[in-house]
Amino acid sequence: MEIVGFDRNNHTQEMIYRALLSGRFPHTVILEGGLPEERLDLAVKIASALLCRDNNTVPCGECHSCRKIEHRTHPDVLILKPEKKEGSKNETYFVDYIRQIRDNAFIIPHESDLKIFILQEAQIMNDQAQNAFLKILEEPPEYVIFILLASTKSVYLPTILSRASVFTLGGETREVKDTVSRERAEAAAEAVCLALGNRYELVMAAGVFDKDQKLLTATLPILGEIFSDTLRVKYSAYEGEPPELCRNLASKFSKRTLLRLADDVNILTEALRQNANLNLTLARLSSLFKSAETEQE
Ligand SMILES: [Zn+2]
Repeated sequence: MEIVGFDRNNHTQEMIYRALLSGRFPHTVILEGGLPEERLDLAVKIASALLCRDNNTVPCGECHSCRKIEHRTHPDVLILKPEKKEGSKNETYFVDYIRQIRDNAFIIPHESDLKIFILQEAQIMNDQAQNAFLKILEEPPEYVIFILLASTKSVYLPTILSRASVFTLGGETREVKDTVSRERAEAAAEAVCLALGNRYELVMAAGVFDKDQKLLTATLPILGEIFSDTLRVKYSAYEGEPPELCRNLASKFSKRTLLRLADDVNILTEALRQNANLNLTLARLSSLFKSAETEQE
């Protein structure tokens, strides 16, 4: 059997390819980083590869199963997203909703050997919902696979992470940072963080990236790490003593804003990877990070 459609020059996709090839794909997978659409595409590709009926090449794209997954009508591939409750301001995975997913997980698949739950924006799950979710992960039915799509894995409780295989998207640019000194990139990242919430200061801090795409490329992953660590502080999941910068950011911004900032970093990273014009990217940096201005706690 041949598995196709995965870019084997890409480390993350190669790891997923190997997991599929092993015939023992993990019950719980977290796809973090990259863009939301990229995460969903990859999850759908995984589901197709797992459920394809072709004997030679999977996913074949033509069998009954592949076509149903493509049209999002496969009864055993459930693509879910956070819900908005009456009276609540924001969409989230509420505990009740997680319980519904759990009940559904115990209903055997309709027409396949597996039942695959793809949870989009799965970073929007509070501790209570995560604990409810953990109950399914502890003893999942043999046929169930959960694919959590999240901007960052840092929001998850260690108990969830210990049961999941994590695949990180958009990591390719991280290698580039060796060409710029780590100290310069760290200083630039810190300056951006200190300026968050004040557009004038942010424009000044982002000035160092003018005509210096390499520095920006090296700085974005560091910003990503800072926001991840800050979210860990926010979710009381940081082990040890967090850096002062992260403590400050955690006290200044809401979880929602911090998640959005982590997403913004992914969007910018992706834009640079696709060789977007540097000036446009810089303009986006200040407009994306604008969310920090309006949502300070
Ligand atoms: Zn197929």
